[in-house]
Amino acid sequence: MKITLADYFMGRDADFPEELTDQIRVNAALTVERVNYLLEAYAKATGDTRARKVNSGWRPLAVNMRVRGSAMTSRHLTGQACDLDDFNGSLDRWCASKAGLDELARIGLWLEHPDATPTWCHVQTVPPRSGNRVFRP
Ligand SMILES: [Zn+2]
Repeated sequence: MKITLADYFMGRDADFPEELTDQIRVNAALTVERVNYLLEAYAKATGDTRARKVNSGWRPLAVNMRVRGSAMTSRHLTGQACDLDDFNGSLDRWCASKAGLDELARIGLWLEHPDATPTWCHVQTVPPRSGNRVFRP
């Protein structure tokens, strides 16, 4: 059920070693830790213990530029954001509920608005400019 650092790097640590700084490694470890706290809280609250695939973890610059609509300020570039598979929106819905928002605040995660992420769930370990727990990029 937990994601691993290898899941998060998606082999890109081997493909783009020159871009992978120590700071990104530290950020990525924290992101993975917090995502796992979130998945644990979600499973406990809903009984849904299925594994979640990482759709997008760390994005080196060249990868990020290929992602449609992705910003140059994307937290994926710094290892501070993670997209989890959420094909039916169940994780997004729970995250945006009162119980989910409490957990996000406790863990230290911010959620991209579910309307903007139809088949995945984007969380990040740093607040957006607005400071809102649920934000639109
Ligand atoms: Zn994302």
